[in-house]
Order: sequence, then structure tokens, then C-alpha cells
Amino acid sequence: MTDAMVTSKPKLTIHLADPRGFCAGVVRAIEIVERALEKWGAPVYVRHEIVHNRHVVDGLREKGAIFVEELDECPDDRPVIFSAHGVPKAVPAEAERRNMLFVDATCPLVSKVHIEAERHSARGLQIVMIGHEGHPETIGTMGQLPKGEVILVETVKDVAVIEPRDPEKLAFITQTTLSIDDTAEIVAALQARFPEIVGPHKEDICYATTNRQAAVKVMAPEIEALLVVGAPNSSNSQRLVEVGRAAGCPYAMLVQTAADIDWRAIEGVRSIGLSAGASAPEVLVDGVLNAFRERYDVDIRRVVTAEENVSFKMPRIMREPA
Ligand code: SF4
Repeated sequence: MTDAMVTSKPKLTIHLADPRGFCAGVVRAIEIVERALEKWGAPVYVRHEIVHNRHVVDGLREKGAIFVEELDECPDDRPVIFSAHGVPKAVPAEAERRNMLFVDATCPLVSKVHIEAERHSARGLQIVMIGHEGHPETIGTMGQLPKGEVILVETVKDVAVIEPRDPEKLAFITQTTLSIDDTAEIVAALQARFPEIVGPHKEDICYATTNRQAAVKVMAPEIEALLVVGAPNSSNSQRLVEVGRAAGCPYAMLVQTAADIDWRAIEGVRSIGLSAGASAPEVLVDGVLNAFRERYDVDIRRVVTAEENVSFKMPRIMREPA
């Protein structure tokens, strides 16, 4: 290729969100599976995708992990790992009953919400959980308490129709990966209808969700399009797309890899934002950047809104010798 051809590429500024991608809970969960494979050999069973990313799951599968949806798909005599999203109490209870070797890779920030729900319940409060129906984290958190003790609300509209046992004895908790702004509206509706409702001591939406949304919000006025690297079943990735749209970005799309980029849709665009959900590995972001470099004369501007230095300890069983 001649220099003339190189310089004839159109110019594009990529606003690169920082922080983006892997959070501490995801790093820990992946490491648990990797260490389990080293410690006990293959196969190691994993209940549900350890984190919501196909690239990660496929990589672990190649190393000997077997992904299943339910515990009854696992044999008694192989280790099983519970995903970062958390599991209902019935799951470890069943693993114990079957005398299975299991490791809980639930993110400590999800476990924190579980503990909070139990504490409220022990004080006689019924729980309202703000979350997405069917998401494994919601299922896991609701499953910390007996049926009927946790009422799920997904929208402001839901708040108007719920019928708690005693409107004066309520507490709310949230999924960790929600939109900060949408959740604030739901919380306001709950507090308006149930003035006595008790909230979390510290925000349930985690630092990683908060920081990634903040970076997208900051860049939104500067960009004509936003791409978020992440999986369709990744809640925090989907929320980043929504946050971008709500902040005024005219085109915001989720892409799993560079192959998903709709080049036609962004034709003529001169500034683009790029972020990645908490379960998306950086190698996929690099793939997207390289795809842009092939087509454009790229200028990268990092949009730094927070510095993250969070890390979580391995569960004790993974620190003990085999
Ligand atoms: S997104 Fe937040 S809650 Fe979920 S695994 Fe990452 S740090 Fe934990």
C-alpha cells in the first residue's frame, strides 16, 4: 500500500472510555475457573455462564470447563463452580446434600446485596428488589429468601401496582448492574408511595457499573455514535447502550466483536465513542480498534473518569493446596 493510499483514509476520532471492560468480580470469577482446572483437572463444571461473554466462556470450555444451566446436569464427583451472578440458596444447599465439591464465584458485591436482604428480612421487613426479571442475579438474590419475601419491580409503573404485606415494613435492594438514572426514578417512586421504606446503607449498583456509565455520559455530547463491546445477555453492557442514548448519542449499539459493526450505519461519522461492558475482555476492544484502523485514520482520545484499583480475594478453598 502506498503512503498516498494510507493518508486517503477518512479521519476518525475514537473516544475510548476509561474505565471500560473487566471489573474485579469478573476477573475473580474467571480466575476461579482457571485455578479450579489447574487444581482438580478437567472437567470442572460451571453452573451458568461464569460471566456473560461468549469469548470468555469458549476459552474456558477449551481448557476443560463444562457449562450447564442446572446442578442436576453435573455429576456428584466433579467440582462445580457457581457463576459471578450469584445463586439462590437452594443451589449450594443441594450441592451440599449431594456431597459435591463446589466453589461459589458470586461477586462479593452481589453477596453484599444478599446479606443486606437477609438482614432486612430478619428485622421483619419485606423486600422490594429493583431488577430485571429472569436475570440470573435477580433470581439468585430473590432466592436468598423464601418465596413471597422479595417483590420484584422493573419499572416506575410496577411500583404503583405492588401490594406489599405491610407498606410500613419495607426495604429495597437493587441489582448491581442497573442504570443509575432509571434506578433513581424507581427509588423516588418507591419512597413517594412508601415513605417508610428502608434503603441500602451504600448503593447496591456497583462501582464498575457506576464508573462505566459515568464515562459514557461524559463522552456522549462529543460523539456521533457509540459502540459498546459486550454480550446481549450482559445487563451492564446493555445499560451502557441505553445510557449513551439517554445522554443524547444519536446512534448507540452493542457489538460482540468487530464483525458486528454496521459500517454503513456509521458511514460519514467522524467521532465515535467506544466502551465495553464489565464482562467483555480487552482483546475484543482491540479487535474493534483494529477494524477501525483498517478503514480510518484513527485518533484515539481516552476519556478517563475514574481510576479503578478494586480486587477481590479468592475464596478460601482456592487458596488451600489441592
Ligand atoms: S459488574 Fe459489579 S457486581 Fe457485577 S461482577 Fe462486576 S463488580 Fe461484581
